[in-house]
Amino acid sequence: MKIVVVGGGTSGLLSALALEKKGHDVVVLEKDKVGGLCRSEYIDGYTVDIGIHAITMLNDGPLIRLLKKYSRYLPNFRPYGDYYIRTDKLYNIPVSMQEWTTTPVVPNKDKILITTKIIDLMTSGFSKETSVYDIIKDMNLSKTSIDFFNTICYFLSGEDAKKTPLWRLFTGAGYIPEDDILPFIYKDLKINPLKTVLFKKFSRNKIMDILNAGFLSSIKSGSKKYINKFINKNRYWTQGYPLGGVQSICNCILYSLTKTDIRNEEVKRIIETSSETNSNSNDNSNNNSNNNNNHKNGYIVETDKNSYYADIVIYSAPSRYLPDIAQIPEIQKNKKDFKNIKFTKSLTVWIGHEENPFPYMGSEVWIDYPCWATCTSNYDKSLAPNGKHLLGFSFTNTKKEEVLNIIENKLGLNLNKADMIHFQEAIPEQASCAVNQFFVYPKVKDNFYVVGTDADPRSMGITRAAYSVEVMLSELDNTFNKNNKNK
Ligand SMILES: Cc1cc2nc3c(=O)[nH]c(=O)nc-3n(C[C@H](O)[C@H](O)[C@H](O)COP(=O)(O)OP(=O)(O)OC[C@H]3O[C@@H](n4cnc5c(N)ncnc54)[C@H](O)[C@@H]3O)c2cc1C
Repeated sequence: MKIVVVGGGTSGLLSALALEKKGHDVVVLEKDKVGGLCRSEYIDGYTVDIGIHAITMLNDGPLIRLLKKYSRYLPNFRPYGDYYIRTDKLYNIPVSMQEWTTTPVVPNKDKILITTKIIDLMTSGFSKETSVYDIIKDMNLSKTSIDFFNTICYFLSGEDAKKTPLWRLFTGAGYIPEDDILPFIYKDLKINPLKTVLFKKFSRNKIMDILNAGFLSSIKSGSKKYINKFINKNRYWTQGYPLGGVQSICNCILYSLTKTDIRNEEVKRIIETSSETNSNSNDNSNNNSNNNNNHKNGYIVETDKNSYYADIVIYSAPSRYLPDIAQIPEIQKNKKDFKNIKFTKSLTVWIGHEENPFPYMGSEVWIDYPCWATCTSNYDKSLAPNGKHLLGFSFTNTKKEEVLNIIENKLGLNLNKADMIHFQEAIPEQASCAVNQFFVYPKVKDNFYVVGTDADPRSMGITRAAYSVEVMLSELDNTFNKNNKNK
């Protein structure tokens, strides 16, 4: 089959890798830099990633599963370390009930209120639309505790407590398994029970039972299990940071691709081929493109330079642009949902310095001015010149001067002595896990798929992108099997 992959970030490249190994003829069209956000830049002797990264679920998550199956080798991940919170000093972020009741981060009065509320919510259930703020607003919590929740929400969902659903806080903290929430995420899942490839371990009837019983009763029925997780949660993280920076994940995929054709072109339009479009289409192809007017039931993918025929399209660019690009009824029907996908911008500052205010493995969050910070050269010294450290700070605020002042004041770090300062503005995930967010299901139709962080709500960034690729591959296999049976 001829497959065109739109976008060459993690999700596009992983899709290309798997599909190439399955014997397809794959072209990747990337408008900018191959790797997308999973890249590192070389700035004044430092190797800086696009945003600061922790790679999740390295024990047995979708990224590792896909790489083990299709790539030539695995990137070398260093264990991540721990997560801290900086107030007057550095403290562990509380995860278990015992840590919640003893943490110095929030006032004593709040600790009791928060722990009893968590157990109460898991027992009595809550609705899918309940936000974190809906719960904390009437608890009379201190400003520190509210700031704490806002910050944790930003980093789990991309939104503050008002826009973050409570389920995201509980799944992100590891108290509620993501699979328990998943049946309720995709808007049209109930309408089309065929879309159950996500839930291979459950029967279709079980999924329909869960959906019919509703979100509230599903949470209630899992409450014992969830409370147990809250009480016993340990600080063992299955996370890591790749030696060489996140570019090494991208390189691992690129070195494993042997036949895929990767081109630097921007996709402008995707149209379905029919006898009408075939006879009317202008053949503006050059020798490199694979446009062929004899094809049927596929797509013409038009770029700024060429046009390509595809039996199957895998779209990995932001889905909110899809209605403008793809003249396909299944997409136009949900145009409003696609265009309303919410996302958040972040500002990352990389600083090269001879001082290292983070002499530990892991990262820290600040709650009075939400920030996530780490030192990547703690994992790999080669990311910074000799005797220097590479410090990364990701903010939800995008005012450059302001964030530099905050860093200086918070850490007592003299930025006049900085060896390098580099700013990046980016969108970490194409869909924030917000209340009522629309997620695109990876299978739009038999020969059109969407992958990326707006096509799966599970986990974070790169792992989330990989989850969507796994779903796409299973759906594609199902379609091939179905078509083979019908032959
Ligand atoms: C500040 C920050 C912190 C982060 N922290 C983490 C973290 O801790 N852990 C983690 O796992 N992830 C993290 N991420 C996110 C992670 O890197 C991304 O979510 C992931 O790499 C996204 O991969 P993707 O393929 O879905 O999207 P992208 O990497 O965005 O790839 C999409 C590609 O499509 C291309 N494209 C768009 N339109 C077109 C078009 N019309 N034609 C052709 N090409 C097109 C784009 O140029 C882009 O290269 C972070 C990101 C940032 C910015």
